[in-house]
Amino acid sequence: MAGVEKNKSRDAIVGVDIGGTKMMATVYDADFNILGNCRKKSRGKSGNDSEKRVVKVIREALETAGSPTISGIGVGSPGPLDPETGVIIDTPNLGWKDFPLAALLRDAFGVPVVVDNDVNVGTYGEWRCTSLRSYRHVLGVFPGTGIGGGIIIDGKILHGFSGAAGEVGHITIALDGPFCGCGKRGCLEAVASRVAIAKEAAALAARGDAPYILEQCGTDVNAIRSGVLARAIEAGDQMVEAVVRKAAYLTGVGVGNLINVLSPEAVVLGGGLVEAMEALMLEEITRGADEHAMPFLRKDVVITAAQLGDDAVVMGAAQLIVEHLASGKKGNGK
Ligand SMILES: [Zn+2]
Repeated sequence: MAGVEKNKSRDAIVGVDIGGTKMMATVYDADFNILGNCRKKSRGKSGNDSEKRVVKVIREALETAGSPTISGIGVGSPGPLDPETGVIIDTPNLGWKDFPLAALLRDAFGVPVVVDNDVNVGTYGEWRCTSLRSYRHVLGVFPGTGIGGGIIIDGKILHGFSGAAGEVGHITIALDGPFCGCGKRGCLEAVASRVAIAKEAAALAARGDAPYILEQCGTDVNAIRSGVLARAIEAGDQMVEAVVRKAAYLTGVGVGNLINVLSPEAVVLGGGLVEAMEALMLEEITRGADEHAMPFLRKDVVITAAQLGDDAVVMGAAQLIVEHLASGKKGNGK
């Protein structure tokens, strides 16, 4: 792929995306061509076997690639995690608590491993593997089931003191707003995520104000996915459109605040809601940012949709390990 950092050792590398429900590994050659890949569910029927499945998904990806020699593995994993040691602190979906993921993979494959938060790694991929690569300061915001964020400042992922910087979804946007999954009230995620929108859409459906939603999903919040919301708007559910526009605008208010604090050159927007309704989401997020960022900080900031889709994390992870190796580091904790 043109423009991305080349792998100086000329060996292959592996990018891994560990999600709450699916995991994926892609093997790249030194020029970032895909040699092979593999996808699996994150948990088997028996439950607590996520660690075995990670090793297996990488092994099978390497087999599909013709078992090349590899120089390192990059991983994007749900957090919170310690980016210094590659230890996953707590991911209930995968059953991991204080789990040394980087060490496990280093022992299993005998190569350096770098592990970082999946949203950080996705933002890194969108930065390094697209036309955004000429920038040095990039903010990633991903509104979907929750609202994730990644911050790149001076060409580096911002981890902060705790290692967990970038929790864009937990900016307080409504002081007495609804409860958030984090236990606080009024976070951006509690008023603007797909789940927050779906709750309102279900209420509209229940009282007959969202006919398409009622017909397709009844009032089941979990069934009201981003694609259903997009189709409801196309079908003319005007109140659903108003709810989605308001949520996107509030996301833009959050983005405007972050522009004031971080002064990025580009904001990249991805996630399920943006993938399903790119034009509407970009319009309202841009409007929110325009109205809440200071003009001097807002001017010249590019606000754009993510381009890599499901491949952002594997590409970002592979890129991250290549740059890690090029800088002479040996991966997390080494
Ligand atoms: Zn929260």
